[in-house]
Amino acid sequence: MKFVARQPAEGINVSQTHPLVEASTLIIGLATIFVLIAVALVFLVEIALAFVSAEDEAALFDGWLPADLVTVAHTDERLNETQMLVDRLAAHWPDSPYQFRVEIDDSEFANAMALPGGLIVVTRGLLDQIESENELAFVLGHELGHFKNRDHLRALGRGIVLSMFFAATTGGDVAGIGVNVADLTLRGFSRRQESKADVFGLGVVHAEYGHVNESWRLFERWAIEDDSLVKLVAYLSTHPDSGDRIVDIKDIAEGEGWPLDGPLTSLKW
Ligand SMILES: [Zn+2]
Repeated sequence: MKFVARQPAEGINVSQTHPLVEASTLIIGLATIFVLIAVALVFLVEIALAFVSAEDEAALFDGWLPADLVTVAHTDERLNETQMLVDRLAAHWPDSPYQFRVEIDDSEFANAMALPGGLIVVTRGLLDQIESENELAFVLGHELGHFKNRDHLRALGRGIVLSMFFAATTGGDVAGIGVNVADLTLRGFSRRQESKADVFGLGVVHAEYGHVNESWRLFERWAIEDDSLVKLVAYLSTHPDSGDRIVDIKDIAEGEGWPLDGPLTSLKW
């Protein structure tokens, strides 16, 4: 039998499928893999958190201050009073593993945040807008709630693994990650985390004063849309909407039977 060389059929290397369909299958497939890996990383952080005790965290971040995030207002005389208020509130969480440390950030924009290791940062702008100790106590109590639920460390962990993953997959600058970490912890927490922190914060306020009067007052002032005031608020980019917050706080108090009325404590400054 003689071998007869034949030309292969025309178009043997051309797919039967339309190129646009192939391209979209590829893109959707890659995107799915990308998302699945990101979700898996977030789960890994959850697992890792179970192994890092709050005591280890406190030791690890002892004295830590992200300089790119916080400009300490050393001369603000309100620091002592704020620290003492945090200590009084934290006394209602007796088994807390943290030694809470307050710093005042020299920013005119009102904000408050919880950072790993028990660091609570409030801005000069927030203290400027506060009119009673009760208002400040709730904001601080809410931040204590984030420590109680370890939201700050979860956010930091997710921030680190996800930014490393994105840097690795997009060929970004891995060395630049350190700078973004602090940033990522401030993206804000989920609605559920915020509401759990509110319940804890309100409980602490109730334990301290025997009522929760004016816990919502700051949000009330922001909700009235006093433009000059709201312009100077950064807090709302990381926390729930003021209007919802007022309703939620009062709902929690009514559900728990915590009085909405009671004598206010004036600021010490
Ligand atoms: Zn919060």
